[in-house]
Amino acid sequence: MRYACYHVGPLEVPGEISLIFTITGCPLRCHGCHSADLRSPVAGRLLEAADFVSKLSRYHGLATCVCFLGGEWEPEELIARLRDARAQGYRTCLYTGGTSIDDAIAVELDFLKLGPFVPELGGLDTPGTNQRFLDLRTGRDLTAEFQRHAAPSRTPEPLPKPVRPAQRPREGILTPELSFA
Ligand code: SF4
Repeated sequence: MRYACYHVGPLEVPGEISLIFTITGCPLRCHGCHSADLRSPVAGRLLEAADFVSKLSRYHGLATCVCFLGGEWEPEELIARLRDARAQGYRTCLYTGGTSIDDAIAVELDFLKLGPFVPELGGLDTPGTNQRFLDLRTGRDLTAEFQRHAAPSRTPEPLPKPVRPAQRPREGILTPELSFA
């Protein structure tokens, strides 16, 4: 399994800080693919087990979840890396452009994003998207979480009315009118 890059982010999995690995070699052909450079099977570098485990050790206390963007096309390696992540106490997530996932992978996941990218329907943060984000521990569909944070409020809250200062000076405070000459 090869990867293009990794980074830490709070947006991919609601309620988690994720260590996100972008896997190359995607065999899918979404119409309007937003990441054609990730489709080459020789792009990126090898995600070696020892290096992966070392990276996870470094992010203990900062990241809480390991998220793979792709990789389901190499199920044995993906399952091994998901087990490495769980062994270090991380929750696990997979983003797939497919509409289903093998059970052998699903049992290693806490979160799963399903669905190809369709430009007219947009990504998870677009109302009406075809994509779904699931919490596999509870079976809950969390897709609306992405739209709640993305949708700006069209009717801003009214500003509070200014409060007039008290007319009568407080006891013990000397104003020019009350001061002793
Ligand atoms: S899942 Fe679809 S959009 Fe993502 S890299 Fe593969 S073909 Fe492109």
